[in-house]
Amino acid sequence: MERFELAIIGAGPGGYVAAIRAAQLGINTVLVERDDIGGTCLNRGCIPTKTILHTAGLFSKISHAEALGIRIESAAVDFDALRMRTAEVRESLRDGVEALVAANGITLMRGTATVAGLDGITVSQPDGTIAEISADHLIIATGSAPAKPPIAGIGEDGVLTSDDMLETIPELKRLVIVGGGVIGMEFAGIYAALKTHVTVLEAAPRILPTMDREFGQSLAMLYRKRGCAIVANALVESIERAADGSLSVRYAVKDAAETVDADAVLVATGRAPAFGGLFAEGFELELDRGRIAVDKRMQTSAEGIYAIGDVAAAGAQLAHAASAQGIVAVETIAGADVSFDPALVPSCVYSSPEIASVGMTETEAKQAGIAARAGKFAMTGNGKSVITGQGRSFAKIVADESDRIIGAQLMCGRATDMIGELSLAVANGLTIEQMKSAIRPHPTFEEAIGEAFEAFAGGAIHAM
Ligand code: FAD
Repeated sequence: MERFELAIIGAGPGGYVAAIRAAQLGINTVLVERDDIGGTCLNRGCIPTKTILHTAGLFSKISHAEALGIRIESAAVDFDALRMRTAEVRESLRDGVEALVAANGITLMRGTATVAGLDGITVSQPDGTIAEISADHLIIATGSAPAKPPIAGIGEDGVLTSDDMLETIPELKRLVIVGGGVIGMEFAGIYAALKTHVTVLEAAPRILPTMDREFGQSLAMLYRKRGCAIVANALVESIERAADGSLSVRYAVKDAAETVDADAVLVATGRAPAFGGLFAEGFELELDRGRIAVDKRMQTSAEGIYAIGDVAAAGAQLAHAASAQGIVAVETIAGADVSFDPALVPSCVYSSPEIASVGMTETEAKQAGIAARAGKFAMTGNGKSVITGQGRSFAKIVADESDRIIGAQLMCGRATDMIGELSLAVANGLTIEQMKSAIRPHPTFEEAIGEAFEAFAGGAIHAM
């Protein structure tokens, strides 16, 4: 049996980042992975979606190029080339992570791990052999997988998960998306830009139901204008193969039965933590709403065993959260006094325009008893937004009674790049005055953040 100071199961953005930090701290580490290195994020999540989105976004711009003063006779998407480019981007980043793991002297073990405790980790390897390892510490970073709800006909061909969509990148005339959360709305934006007729069926009263109300309302309005059908309060009852070969989705909206036909149905109703088969018989960890329960240092109910990323009950299932949690777990193992605060994790939607938020919304703050107030700026007064033809968008900052920044919500061009400034403010309790003191360049989307801070005091300059 080979012994390591640290064993990490799963080489997604949680596990491989934890392994690199451990190596940097001189901890002898084994990283176990049963599939491609990079996990969901690099292979079936963040990276392939944004690669396809990049092409879809350009195609959409080209399709409306005349308004920008460019005449293009015809443009078409070459799906084979798009599939090839997506695979190339994936491979190039995967090679990069593999090189980093090797350069840091991390032992990479290929295979499926089973855990019976720190002294009983077995790895079933691709050649059929079983390796037995033990470790002083263990980090479980096994991620999550798409979950399909129990809808009649969910097993029909053409009813796809995000994994299936990213594996095949199908060319579609009509796509129905069940679930208007972040993943569903990202695919809606991509496919609408690729000129597919998209219908989103969301069970909640609005899309993006876990985010600020204004995000869902504004995005629905914009996407409807672009030809997407967005149906809220829609309860999907069944999916059937119709006589003409299309898929027929039956759903109810406030007791009225409706049907919509499609070439494919994407089910984007949530993800389940991936620890099926991970625990050997008799080995258990405490769970919290189906995910592995952890404290703020990512420690599970078992001494020396940590859980990070999508598999852990520690807030949003996002790549940057998984990486931050991995660093906290490793630095804790190394003896540092560090902790993870889920409230500091920014959430992003790569829609058009982009959406990003961090900390509390004004409503959440008020519900928590904070006398919160918001500074808001509508992007109609932002030059860069007008130049680049962004739709209805805004920047909103939330401050508490002592003027400390406790949250921010952005819906505008480059919102996902700009949220970092506001994460810094929330993480460090910076005040309106401190944030106002920065002079932001012109013409940029960033100016909207400055204007939202001005809105707290004398008023935004470029607002009626
Ligand atoms: P994962 O990335 O899921 O990695 C877990 C790894 O563990 C996998 O490689 C798996 O093979 C391995 N594993 C599992 N069980 C075992 C075992 N028993 N033995 C050995 N290995 C095992 N997040 C963002 O922040 N930004 C985005 O833009 C974004 N876009 C997304 C788009 C889509 C379509 C999806 C599905 C997700 C997206 N996410 C995004 C979420 C992000 O991908 C996940 O939050 C992130 O990958 C979680 O990282 P992780 O390390 O916890 O797990």
